[in-house]
Amino acid sequence: MPLVKATAIVLKSLKWGDADRIVTCYSKERGKLRGVARGARRLKSRFGAALEPFSLCQLNLFEKTGDSLYRISHVDLVRSSQKLRESLGLIDSAARMVNVVAAITPDGDPDPLLFETLVQGLASLHESEDPTFMALLFQIRLLGVTGFRPQTDQCATCGKTHFMGDPQFSPVAGGLVCLPCAAHQRVRCVALSRGSLSFLQQAIRLDPTIVTRLRASGQVRGEVEAAIEGYVTVVAGKRLPSANFLSVAGS
Ligand SMILES: [Zn+2]
Repeated sequence: MPLVKATAIVLKSLKWGDADRIVTCYSKERGKLRGVARGARRLKSRFGAALEPFSLCQLNLFEKTGDSLYRISHVDLVRSSQKLRESLGLIDSAARMVNVVAAITPDGDPDPLLFETLVQGLASLHESEDPTFMALLFQIRLLGVTGFRPQTDQCATCGKTHFMGDPQFSPVAGGLVCLPCAAHQRVRCVALSRGSLSFLQQAIRLDPTIVTRLRASGQVRGEVEAAIEGYVTVVAGKRLPSANFLSVAGS
């Protein structure tokens, strides 16, 4: 059984059997993977709190031929997620980030930029007083780095660049659509004011190091949240829970 070393963020951690945990991670080296941590739920487990959701850790894994489940033999905690589990607002936003990554990434398909985006997204929660807004910015960036960048320059269906009236965001088309195309969408479009469109364009284009300086409130924030929520639901193929309390609270 070859040893694999990986740097990873814990997405989910579920009880398994009497004393074990099955952990889903997004790793820099192997992409999304699942591993079993034997004895992780014993009081004096060698894994400690390193396998809690949202933790950044270094894993030693053993790969078994013909089995997609790795065996986790050793964990070093790099950044604890304890602070992110201290309030419901933080749990909700951190859970939204990891749930979207879990839903839209296939197993075993590494993407270092996606990994870095997730690490930065969770780190932004440590510094912000508005975690829901950080989760919104994270989702816009994540869509961009995973090939689902929202189309905001022309109609995503017919390509027209000049529209009459307020732009409409189509979750199914993945971007702006003109009014005639909006009438044919199978999921209702979200009307975006010019301010909302401009915010969305900036959130997509700005460098990740300064994007967190963007601000949005009231109508702009509501419209962009509705558009991204609708689009993420389509991309993920399901409506995502904002927080997975079972996995977060499970010990
Ligand atoms: Zn159109």
